[in-house]
Order: sequence, then structure tokens, then C-alpha cells
Amino acid sequence: MRTLLPALLIALAGVASCGQSGAVPARPAGSAAPTASTTSTTAPSAGRPLAGRVVVIDPGHQLGNSRHRARIERRVWIGNGYTACNTTGTSTDSGFPEATFTWRVAKRMRIELRALGARVILTRKANSRGLWGPCVDARGRRGNAVPADLKVSIHGDGSYAAGAHGFHVIYAPDHRPTADSYRGSRRLAESTRAAMGRAGFARANYLAGGDGLDVRSDLGTLNLSNMPTVMVECGNMRNPADARRMSSPSGEQRYAAALVRGVRSFLVGR
Ligand code: ZN
Repeated sequence: MRTLLPALLIALAGVASCGQSGAVPARPAGSAAPTASTTSTTAPSAGRPLAGRVVVIDPGHQLGNSRHRARIERRVWIGNGYTACNTTGTSTDSGFPEATFTWRVAKRMRIELRALGARVILTRKANSRGLWGPCVDARGRRGNAVPADLKVSIHGDGSYAAGAHGFHVIYAPDHRPTADSYRGSRRLAESTRAAMGRAGFARANYLAGGDGLDVRSDLGTLNLSNMPTVMVECGNMRNPADARRMSSPSGEQRYAAALVRGVRSFLVGR
């Protein structure tokens, strides 16, 4: 089964998945009649096709997780079992951390999505060695109360398999925790994979199937999210070519632009 082998490979590679939380303001109750100005800021238009949309971006891990082992190893409920609150994430061989990569891509995505009119929620507010978490359960629930339109969780993989490189997109199977969001997540995964491919990124060559998609039931970030949600392993940080791209400003921008393209394509089809 495709779902088991990649999970095993990823576990062997020491890769982690992530998680956040916090109060999310509710949408306006609509008690007041909209004015011309508020209408113009939320209605989709040619220049702002994502106006009125809410996108959650989850920059995987927190830079300080490794300094707070006891906290991030605490067990949390993920809808079908318990896992660690979070993990440290991986890094390139030269020590560039996954947490910093995901944070930078997330910020670049936020700029682009806001320019398209979307409201953006990040699951963590900073990238700091003094901080830890949030846990995967909180990351999974973030945006549920808004409700947000979709969630993209950004990661980098850490496989030591010889020559392993490329991206893959993970979504949760049709199981009880995600019965409400499974179809949307699968469609978002396909949209994201297509956008990454159009941007010139190669599909991961080290997963069974080789189609750039993976289905996993063991990730709280996916299980507890009530909206279409994907986790993107943008590349393998232990691969020299992927690592160079993932630790360069131009590479980070390419990833961000591709992921935004996937969001846009999913939400408005263009
Ligand atoms: Zn990760």
C-alpha cells in the first residue's frame, strides 16, 4: 500500500510533522449594512481574485523546538490516536533549519496572497530559538472557527536515501477525523502538485508510487483541520541541489509563488 511505505521511509529519515493555535476572530456578524468601501475590499475583482478568502499557512516546526524537548514530546490527541506535540524538523547538511525555510516561504506566500486580496493566518507568529510549538493539534485546528477556506502546511524533508530529491504533497485519507474535508484536501493536493510541476519542481523520487502525492492518517495537522488541507514537503533538505534551492532567497520565492499558484487555482480556478 502506498500509504504505509512512505510513512515508514519518512519515519526512518527522521522527518517530522508539525503543528499551532490561538484565538481567531470571528467573521463579522453582518449587523451593519455594508458600505461602499467595505464592499470594495471584500468582493473579488480582476486584480484581487481572492478577496474575501481566508488562507491558513502553517510554517512547519518552530526554530526553538530542539531546546524544549520535554514540551514538544508531550503527547497530544490527533483525532485517531496520540503523537508528539511537535518535532525539531530537519536541516540541510550545512545546518540551515527547516523551521527557517518554512518561515521564509510562509512570509513570501503571505505577501502574494494579500496582494491577491486574501486574508492570511499564520500558525506561528515568529521564528525564534527562544520559542517552541505550537503543537500539531493546535496547528490542525487553526482556522476552523473562522472558518478559513484552506490550509497549506509547509515542510522540508530529511531523507538520507542516496539521491533522494524532489517535492511531495501529503493529504489525509477518507477516515473519520477528516470525513468532512477529505475530498477538498485531495483536490487541493492535486492543484498544489500541478502548480509545483508547472514551476519546474521535480516530484519526489524516493516515495512509492512516484506521483508526488502521499496519503497519511498519522498527522494531527491534517486530521484536525476541518478545511481542505495539505502538507507540502517542498524538497529534501539533505539533497545538495534541493538544499541549495531551499536555502536561497530566489529558491524560497519560487516555492512561495508555486504554492500560491496552487491555492489560487484551487480557490478560483485561475
Ligand atoms: Zn517538517
